[in-house]
Amino acid sequence: MKPLLGGCACGQVRYECTEGPLVQFICHCRDCQHTSGGAFMAFIFVPRDRLTYLSGSLHHYDVRAESGRELRRQFCSACGSPISAYWPGAPMVELLTVASLDDQSIFTPSHELWMSRAEDWHPVHPETIKFSEGPDEELVREPVRAYFAAREK
Ligand SMILES: [Zn+2]
Ligand SMILES: [Zn+2]
Repeated sequence: MKPLLGGCACGQVRYECTEGPLVQFICHCRDCQHTSGGAFMAFIFVPRDRLTYLSGSLHHYDVRAESGRELRRQFCSACGSPISAYWPGAPMVELLTVASLDDQSIFTPSHELWMSRAEDWHPVHPETIKFSEGPDEELVREPVRAYFAAREK
């Protein structure tokens, strides 16, 4: 596959990922609203060991997500663009913001999370499976587990 390339608004942060998305979703939780400055965030999950930051520097902050798990959110230290996030307690995968991708057309979300927090004024995707709160753990864990199991063969 062609590597996924992306970065921030000011151009200082650039990354490359040599593996395609394992999971793709849209999240309407309050924390994603705060972080994005908008109504939701869109993410792809990638294996962290296939992701390389090429330039720029990231700042981060840790939040206790509505799921109850600690999430580290990373953004460009110069312009503040949200770039990525991961769970320090489960650092196998990193979430890249779809906004940071050079080619956003690869995004095909399967699920929308935290519909209970979604803004009334923002339309939702017609074809996603929607959860009132966070997803079943298995929804995220199973594709990630299957990916790493296949790699070990
Ligand atoms: Zn920047
Ligand atoms: Zn969220």
